[in-house]
Amino acid sequence: MISLHSKLPDVGITIFTVMNQLGAQHNAVNLGQGFPDFPMSSQLTDLVNKAMRDGFNQYTHMNGLPLLRERIAAKVQKLYSTSIDPETQVTITPGGTYAIYTALTAALQPGDEVIVFEPAYDSYIPNIEVNGAKAVLISLAFTDYSIPWDEVRQKITAKTRMIMVNTPQNPTGSVLGENDIEQLRAITAGTGIMILSDEVYEHLIFDDIPHYSILRYPDLLERSFVCFSFGKTYHCTGWKLGYCISSAELMKEFRKVHQFNCFTCITPFQVALAEYMQDEEAYLSLPKFYQRKRDFFASLMKATPFKPMVSHGSYFQCYSYSHLSEESDKDFALRLIRDYGIVTIPVSAFYKNGKDDKALRFCFAKKEETLEKAVEKLVKFPS
Ligand code: PMP
Ligand code: GLN
Repeated sequence: MISLHSKLPDVGITIFTVMNQLGAQHNAVNLGQGFPDFPMSSQLTDLVNKAMRDGFNQYTHMNGLPLLRERIAAKVQKLYSTSIDPETQVTITPGGTYAIYTALTAALQPGDEVIVFEPAYDSYIPNIEVNGAKAVLISLAFTDYSIPWDEVRQKITAKTRMIMVNTPQNPTGSVLGENDIEQLRAITAGTGIMILSDEVYEHLIFDDIPHYSILRYPDLLERSFVCFSFGKTYHCTGWKLGYCISSAELMKEFRKVHQFNCFTCITPFQVALAEYMQDEEAYLSLPKFYQRKRDFFASLMKATPFKPMVSHGSYFQCYSYSHLSEESDKDFALRLIRDYGIVTIPVSAFYKNGKDDKALRFCFAKKEETLEKAVEKLVKFPS
């Protein structure tokens, strides 16, 4: 019998897989894992078919199809007024999660410390630990989920190598503002501290709030890996395609890890995306498109006893049930699947120590009829 010394002894199966399976068993409406249930653009799927028929079926450039990287650089120039070099600063990856993993693997040495704000997307901490580094955890302020910068300053040590930020944030929907950027700048200036900015929800931002991308700030980009996902922008999470933007210096190391892990991403999809990215409306329309969904869901949820928390971005909205039950959020979420037929994600799953604020995350990237069906079930919950 062969056994191995686990690199991730505390890690089980992700909450998304667990909740999906339970949901399927109970035939429940799934507002758990983040993915749209409406179709993606047929123009974009047609472009993939065309690229395959046109013969784009062999390896493309290791760092990504050159034309796609050029289109990304043009988009960055237009949206964030920063000039980046597609040759040296952009790498196409099989998804945002992989981009984050690759950046952490390129950047971290055993014993390094990385500041992580919780609740956090569940891949961050294992991806730090698998590299022998340590996640230094800081809870976002309850209930607005802002960053407590004084605590960040207190937790910086000689070993701090990186600060991870995520805007708009999963699972809370909180967003960074100008003051957060100033704080990041003040804390990192003159140090060797890098920034990993997870911006996969860059276009899912509401209430006319601008997206404070690290890409707007060339001085911060010098020390940053900024990660994106085509899956979120084009309603195709199953494509698992994304990209990372960094300085040429940092990107050199990123690519060393990438070349022996994945080497190159699926070619015809990159050909199709390069063509489709010329349609700016497809992403410029997203804030309004998703804001309508958030507001529609919120209007339905008024008929339930659940209390909304703030969401300015992402396709998630958290609701509190602390006035309704003493149960842990995991037990409560299980009860909602079993007795009411609806899947949510307990927010404690995004804290390493399972901190339980009695809140559930709902994904509203769904057809109106799905949201209606879900809320029809939830209104039966006694107030
Ligand atoms: N970061 C966050 C915060 C996410 O929610 C996701 C979605 N899974 C990702 C990164 C990565 O997306 P993907 O790997 O599916 O492109
Ligand atoms: N980002 C998605 C979410 O938070 C799911 C990603 C995953 O299943 N790993 O729901």
